[in-house]
Amino acid sequence: MTDSKTAPQGAEPQVVALARALLSCPSVTPDAAGAIEVLQDFLLPLHFSLQVEHTPNGTTNAWIVHGFDAPVFVFGGHVDVVSPGDLSKWTTPPFEPDVRDGKLYARGASDMKGSVAAAACAFARFVREHPDHPGTLAMLITSDEEGDGLEGTARMVKTLRRWGVHIDWCIVGEPSCAARFGDTIKNGRRGSLNGRLVVHGKQGHVAYPQLADNPVHKAAAFLAELSSRVWDEGTEHFLPSSLQISNIHAGHGVVNIIPGELEVLFNIRYNTCWTQERLIEEIEAMARRRDLSCEFFWKSSAQPFVTRPGRMTRVLSEAVERVTGCRPQLNTAGGTSDARFLSTISDETVEFGPMNATIHSINECVGVDELVLLEEIYLETITRLFLDEE
Ligand SMILES: [Zn+2]
Repeated sequence: MTDSKTAPQGAEPQVVALARALLSCPSVTPDAAGAIEVLQDFLLPLHFSLQVEHTPNGTTNAWIVHGFDAPVFVFGGHVDVVSPGDLSKWTTPPFEPDVRDGKLYARGASDMKGSVAAAACAFARFVREHPDHPGTLAMLITSDEEGDGLEGTARMVKTLRRWGVHIDWCIVGEPSCAARFGDTIKNGRRGSLNGRLVVHGKQGHVAYPQLADNPVHKAAAFLAELSSRVWDEGTEHFLPSSLQISNIHAGHGVVNIIPGELEVLFNIRYNTCWTQERLIEEIEAMARRRDLSCEFFWKSSAQPFVTRPGRMTRVLSEAVERVTGCRPQLNTAGGTSDARFLSTISDETVEFGPMNATIHSINECVGVDELVLLEEIYLETITRLFLDEE
């Protein structure tokens, strides 16, 4: 076991040192807690320019740019992290990064300050070698990704649109790999729609059902239909859409009252066969066909997006394969990310980052090797995008 405190600091790769500096900031959403300043101190001496936006809920958004004209490459990332939870369960404190057995441990190590450090180091090396490179290299960094996400990248995308920025290529550094580093590039994400259903009945005594109207009985067949329905067969890029009921509640905890109301919570992860509007229309029509006296309340948490694989996806895939020896698969599984916002102003948007095995968990970590290789992959990708004649 190597102890970071006794290891010679000079021996550590720059990407690990930068990741440590970012990870030392206790930046639980939406507080950036000094992480933007760490990036600023690293990149501004290399003639990057910086625009920072502070939003009313305490989010810090940063747009860090080198270059002026098209084409535009953007690295999208976040420096906020989820709460570390019970501190006593961590082997070392979550905001005191520690290297043990080749892994860097801290909250946010894999999700996603490690990727932010790798991208910043790749950017630095690229502009040092090619100070007059064509095109524009930019980082969009927010401290509101793990929360509602509305004050972060979503808001910055509106600002960029106002400025007339159009992105040619965008990589979001979310931890995308599952079984081994290099195995997955995400080229899209499913949409996510939350529903709350309230079924109305009439409360009464269980011995006198004729005087009551049981919402549990009325809803049962409808819920069976909802949960067993095949929504689609999936597409070339997506798994089939899926509806999951997550909560059912009715009654008062006693056996002799027919409840007056039933509440159901559910979530739908849907692919590009559906739009949110068509799903809502369809589910409400299913309830109407059963004459259910009910109300629906809807909350969208993400629209689906997919990037048709183009030049960047190819160049990134080749870089991943060359550097890791692993040919990455394109896939769209998993939760939502800020790529959904960036994809609205970008021709090609994918996610590539380290392993996702420990994200949001106690003792979150990232391999030191992964960080070093990730920097190489990002550097090779931007170098080829900007400098190869194709
Ligand atoms: Zn993340």
